[in-house]
Amino acid sequence: MSEKRKFGFETRMLHAGHIPDSYSGSRAVPIFQTAGYVFDSPEYAASLFELKQYGNIYTRISNPTTAVFEERIASLEGGTGALATASGQAAQLITMMTLMNPGDEFVASSHLYGGTYTQFEHTFKKLSIKVIFVDPTDIKHWEKAITPKTRLLYGETIGNPQGSVFDFEGVSALAKANSIPLVIDNTLASPYLCRPLEWGADIVLHSATKFLNGHGTSIAGVIVDSGKFDFSNYPAISSPSIPYHNLNFFETFGHYGFLMKARCETLRDTGASISPFNSFLLIQGLETLSLRMERHVSNALNVAKFLVDHPMVDWVNYPGLPDHPHYERTKKYLSKGAGSVFAFGLKTGNNSAREAGKKFIENLELFSHVANLGDCKSMVIHPASTTHQQLSDLELQRANVKPELIRLSIGLETTEDLLWDLEQAFHAISR
Ligand SMILES: *Cc1c(COP(=O)(O)O)cnc(C)c1O
Repeated sequence: MSEKRKFGFETRMLHAGHIPDSYSGSRAVPIFQTAGYVFDSPEYAASLFELKQYGNIYTRISNPTTAVFEERIASLEGGTGALATASGQAAQLITMMTLMNPGDEFVASSHLYGGTYTQFEHTFKKLSIKVIFVDPTDIKHWEKAITPKTRLLYGETIGNPQGSVFDFEGVSALAKANSIPLVIDNTLASPYLCRPLEWGADIVLHSATKFLNGHGTSIAGVIVDSGKFDFSNYPAISSPSIPYHNLNFFETFGHYGFLMKARCETLRDTGASISPFNSFLLIQGLETLSLRMERHVSNALNVAKFLVDHPMVDWVNYPGLPDHPHYERTKKYLSKGAGSVFAFGLKTGNNSAREAGKKFIENLELFSHVANLGDCKSMVIHPASTTHQQLSDLELQRANVKPELIRLSIGLETTEDLLWDLEQAFHAISR
């Protein structure tokens, strides 16, 4: 894109990272559905394998369609570059495996997506990487959990089901004071609503399955690096890489060192790569990101207000409402809106909360009962009877998932139709 002008967010959603090629003139980004790439000469091939030149070797490592998605999301988040992955879970795994060695620790907010929590708690144990979870709402908990083995701090822009908004200024100052990076999962906000790199985060990642794709058509993830963190004394990035004949990724690639190591070692070796077709779908999604997010937010705010006033609703955890404990943070970090995923509690009277939740969902007509979010279509889930059904009431309490909790992902439908649907489902369970 032109060096002469700093283009706006919407322009970059449509153009960043792509110039139509003179060979085909294709206006849309072509899908390079190929596994390998022809090398011009043996010398050229050798220089690629030694990382002496940038170029495509094999789609497990890089691909031209995927590269457009990567550059576009890096531009939207304000980063130096990006790495796309097969899923959000893979984005987390690749980030953490690149930044840590066996025996290292990290501190994470406990207000996390369930799958992330389990990956950190159980699968990372097999890699001898230890997570310490903290209640993220008080900076003192973070301070206390940091030890000399702590390699990074981790949180989500909007944590569920509490609807907590991340304390970017407090936690990023703490990360800086300890010379460790702050890694943020920005899935629920998207770069349209919040850009964590502008608030002191060093690395941002996404489940691109959600709002970035926007249409529920692929599983994908992405990692964006600010390029600003000083990795010169950071063991996992600045120590010699044995497979690359002692290459030092930080000395060789500077502000691009983390991403090069993530791509050329961790992605290459774990194989959690995105397919070019899914990158194409993500590029389509990004083209309308701002428009969708505006509508998601306005629908979510209307639904949240409707629920607050409803006699069958006990509580609503939407950080876009003025009485949410983090409303001040919302105004600061999420000035365009608090997203469209939030939880509320059903007032169930004498009925079992688990049964009432089930019945409520059964009676919804427009809201789809789905384990996904961030789709154009509205979605609902009742954790106590689905994702968390094996937990006892006491265990649910410990996991902060109340049996009456219903989670909504508000889509782009006609607002009044969503309110109608909720009202008729409330009516059905009150009978
Ligand atoms: C869905 C989700 C993930 C996991 O991403 P997948 O694409 O499902 O692997 C991680 N974090 C958040 C906040 C999510 O919503």
